[in-house]
Amino acid sequence: MTDAKIIDGKAFSEKLVTQVAAEVEVFAKATGQVPGLAVVLVGENPASQVYVRNKSERTTAAGMRSIEHRLDCDTDEASLLALIETLNQDDMVDGILVQLPLPDQINADAVINAIRPDKDVDGFHVVNAGLLATGQESLVPCTPFGCLLLLRDQLGDLSGLHAVVVGRSNIVGKPMAQLLLGESCTVTIAHSRTKDVESLCQQADILVAAVGRPEMITDVHVKKGATVIDVGINRVPAPERGEGKFRLTGDVDFDAAAKKAGAITPVPGGVGPMTIACLLRNTLVAAARRHGVTIGKI
Ligand code: NDP
Repeated sequence: MTDAKIIDGKAFSEKLVTQVAAEVEVFAKATGQVPGLAVVLVGENPASQVYVRNKSERTTAAGMRSIEHRLDCDTDEASLLALIETLNQDDMVDGILVQLPLPDQINADAVINAIRPDKDVDGFHVVNAGLLATGQESLVPCTPFGCLLLLRDQLGDLSGLHAVVVGRSNIVGKPMAQLLLGESCTVTIAHSRTKDVESLCQQADILVAAVGRPEMITDVHVKKGATVIDVGINRVPAPERGEGKFRLTGDVDFDAAAKKAGAITPVPGGVGPMTIACLLRNTLVAAARRHGVTIGKI
């Protein structure tokens, strides 16, 4: 049994999407058009196909326009860059997202940095990364932004809290650390070369796990009463469900960590739904900025 509060990312994300959909209507009245999100998928990675389908369905459900481009796995970089340029120029496209990972023949950084920064709804472009790092208005990467919204909802003012982020990727760990610094947390970033990750984590008021290692974070990493955010999505074999079956698990051993945490996100149903909700929000934000329409802050 646990006394930890389970942070319901699904319920929070539904509220956020409802708010986005209401603002889309305001945007449509002001401009006579709805925000458009172009999603580009190269190849047939099964997980990416599911993500792209979900993104398209949720975009449409929020009243926005979804434009899907599916390219063969042998598409070359020049062809993809040409498509990005077309989308950059298309006035009906407010947000552009290229589903990662890309096939080996394509340099992901070159593609991401070819997207117009003001349409870069993933927030991965170096311009957006730089704006975030310097505390300026930017498009913020969806997953860490979703984590931040959950943390603010749970804890209110984060100022002065010690946050430990385990993971330093460009898409989760680094922007997460920047966002927490922006909230005046004291931030420690741990990674695969960090010595004694365990004792660092034990000092955390806020512990964010973005490692990609199933259930690596356990009760020994958690300070009593800490807020634990599990970004991980790992598919692990689940023979108890039948031969060849899988289950989703996070980077946190939920049952163990929940014995000590004050609050904790589950997987699934924690950070995952927040990512798509923040993508929809970013698309609305990008459209509103381009058209000079004012929308509410969150
Ligand atoms: P990456 O593989 O890009 O980064 C993992 C990070 O973890 C690296 O910085 C790595 O360190 C660090 N790391 C690896 N092993 C250890 C270790 N033993 N101790 C400490 N640090 C370690 O992953 P992502 O950031 O892209 O994703 C992280 C997790 O989040 C994954 O499970 C992914 O599936 C999930 N994810 C979930 C999303 C969602 O919507 N909920 C969205 C995006 C990702 P180093 O840099 O030294 O190699």
